[in-house]
Amino acid sequence: MNYLKEMWRLQNIEVELVKLRKEWTQIKEWLNRETGEDLAEIQAGINEAREQWELCKGEYEEGVSEIETIGRKLEQFNSQLYEGGAQSKELVSIQQNIEQLRRRKRNLEEKQLSSIQQLDDLEQKIANETVRFQRLDEQRKSRLNRLMERRDEIRERYKDLKDQREELRKIIPNFMMVIYNDLVAQKKRPMAILTDENCSGCGMAQTVLNVNALKKSGQYTRCSNCGRILIAGDEVEQE
Ligand SMILES: [Zn+2]
Repeated sequence: MNYLKEMWRLQNIEVELVKLRKEWTQIKEWLNRETGEDLAEIQAGINEAREQWELCKGEYEEGVSEIETIGRKLEQFNSQLYEGGAQSKELVSIQQNIEQLRRRKRNLEEKQLSSIQQLDDLEQKIANETVRFQRLDEQRKSRLNRLMERRDEIRERYKDLKDQREELRKIIPNFMMVIYNDLVAQKKRPMAILTDENCSGCGMAQTVLNVNALKKSGQYTRCSNCGRILIAGDEVEQE
């Protein structure tokens, strides 16, 4: 037994472990970035709009009661005016009062109109921002869920692969593991497929002797150029 398939599997496992570690780090970064700051900002905006609305509503109600008071006063003055019996000096002063009150009332009514507009705008803003908040909050929650689910998957897969790696290391003879680890230390993937007569790692054509040794006798063969351990393509495809 040449243990080539086992080493090929070992290599695949180690490649996947590296990928999983990278993804794990990426997910951790993404999760750290999920501070919910944007949501807090929207919420603060909604709260501010609510406070403004309360303030505006208060002013509007004060206006309503002042207009009512003015209405009553105008009635009083008007009846004084038409009751008769008042001196002309008093009449002038009553008419001045009436003018003044009417002006005040007109100003108040204009202000009321703009208050109503402002209240409408604020209500619209609160409604829109609340919808936006809910949508973003839902998106955030599902994003967090997905990330955490994937993190759990990675954790399990990683553990599983590590166990498989341990098993393979126990099976593969020591001297082969030494060569394998030496190639890893050189930052090379230790295994390469023999494609036609070439090493798939460096592309170098192999001698007929080498090719035959591997293909016919299944002997343990290394690339004469890069030193990678060669495996026949059909062995890999069978997996
Ligand atoms: Zn090679």
